[in-house]
Amino acid sequence: MDAKQVLEFDTLVVGGGIAGLQSALDLGDQGFQVAVVEKDASIGGKMIRLSKVFPTLDCASCITTPKMAAAAHHEKISLFTYCDLNSLDRQGDAITASVTQRPRYVDADKCIGCRQCEYTCPVYVADDEQGGFSASKAITIPFSNAIPQLAVMDVENCMLCGKCVKACPTDAIDFFQQPEDFVIRAKTAVLATGFELTPVENKQQYGNGNIPNVITSMQMERLLAPHGPYNRVLRPSDGMEPDSIAYIQCAGSRDKSMGISYCSRVCCMYAIKQAMLISGSLPLADIIIYYMDIRAFGKGYEQFYQNAKAMGIEFVKGKVASISQGENGAVTLRYEAQNGEGVTTADHDLVVLSLGMIPGWNPAGICPVSADSDQFIQTIRPKVAPTLTDMEGVFVAGAAAGPKDIVDTITESGAAAMEAAKYLEAVSQSRKAVA
Ligand SMILES: Cc1cc2nc3c(=O)[nH]c(=O)nc-3n(C[C@H](O)[C@H](O)[C@H](O)COP(=O)(O)OP(=O)(O)OC[C@H]3O[C@@H](n4cnc5c(N)ncnc54)[C@H](O)[C@@H]3O)c2cc1C
Ligand code: SF4
Ligand code: SF4
Repeated sequence: MDAKQVLEFDTLVVGGGIAGLQSALDLGDQGFQVAVVEKDASIGGKMIRLSKVFPTLDCASCITTPKMAAAAHHEKISLFTYCDLNSLDRQGDAITASVTQRPRYVDADKCIGCRQCEYTCPVYVADDEQGGFSASKAITIPFSNAIPQLAVMDVENCMLCGKCVKACPTDAIDFFQQPEDFVIRAKTAVLATGFELTPVENKQQYGNGNIPNVITSMQMERLLAPHGPYNRVLRPSDGMEPDSIAYIQCAGSRDKSMGISYCSRVCCMYAIKQAMLISGSLPLADIIIYYMDIRAFGKGYEQFYQNAKAMGIEFVKGKVASISQGENGAVTLRYEAQNGEGVTTADHDLVVLSLGMIPGWNPAGICPVSADSDQFIQTIRPKVAPTLTDMEGVFVAGAAAGPKDIVDTITESGAAAMEAAKYLEAVSQSRKAVA
């Protein structure tokens, strides 16, 4: 790709999670040319990292992988992964985005995804894709069903031994690869930049992320996933199968001490889902969900909650005030029970924080689109056209606009694609009228 090359598309989709993929596929199927810019090395977003999905308990990757593959093979969709979006602005008729392709230190035209580099690399690094529970290498393909299947080198940890160079059958390793800047010009854009989890390291009362057997809900997704780090649920400190597992709800939502006053909407349901999956794999374990209110708002969700209770999952109404290291790896919770028992403590083998959602991207200084008071992308007519932003021709889809589940994400992404298609049609009609 030449420096400052300008690439023309009908629509630019920012973010290759399930929202961005759905919008891109809906637009591509209507014949529009779509560019998807994704910051990670693979498309798929959070959904490809989940185990199963509530309320149907379908396998998450069985739904996500076909959409990833469909986008990758779609003749109207171009994927730009491992890219930084530097700016996105409207210039006259066009939306112009400045993008930088970060170096993978692997030639994308030569790499055949054979993983010989990864097998031979002697440097082990914590595998974030597996919640940090297992190790990957300093050069790796991020996960088994990643798209594209291209190796990426972690230059921070590479010790320049050159073993991958010798192992690579296509001579694809390139230590001298440089970032490449290019420009995408499009008539519309869909912002599908998703969410991140609330930062547990900021919550001193919950141990700042330093208590070994206190894990995040996303880490539990990996423990439960078919291609997870251990293929079973173990507690990290000693590999023991936990007999007692606790979920802490609203850990980083509805919590003014963390500056997050809103409900993240999915945490109650994913905690119930995970509890059900754990009780399938560890039928003798006690599973207790500490909650303030259970929010089971979607279709079939209340029944899902009732099913969990019927399975023996215990729900304790009480806000957990603090979490501390107990004896022999146990974790001690201090909470105020709402059943009249007052402040009390309980020990568990493993504790899962049901973390909330914060915006995945801050447009400040990059794009003039407005954010709302919670810093998600502002929607200007939420009751009438919930994907409209205050930038002409720019729409928003999925968790970029606020916390939501997959059903609402997919629905909204279809709506964003439809609004973008309507806009493209209007632009085309007005150009014809001028001509
Ligand atoms: C632990 C957990 C379990 C869950 N389980 C369920 C479940 O069982 N059922 C359910 O319905 N929902 C579940 N959810 C919610 C579900 O994950 C979301 O609804 C869904 O992932 C939202 O998709 P998205 O594409 O909007 O966001 P994301 O999945 O966050 O995707 C956003 C994408 O945009 C990319 N991106 C961000 N910023 C930029 C940028 N500046 N430039 C380029 N790319 C960018 C990101 O890298 C990412 O790939 C769960 C959530 C969590 C945290
Ligand atoms: S050069 Fe770096 S990436 Fe390649 S094998 Fe050696 S340590 Fe691994
Ligand atoms: S860089 Fe070479 S060895 Fe590594 S996956 Fe690509 S082709 Fe295979």
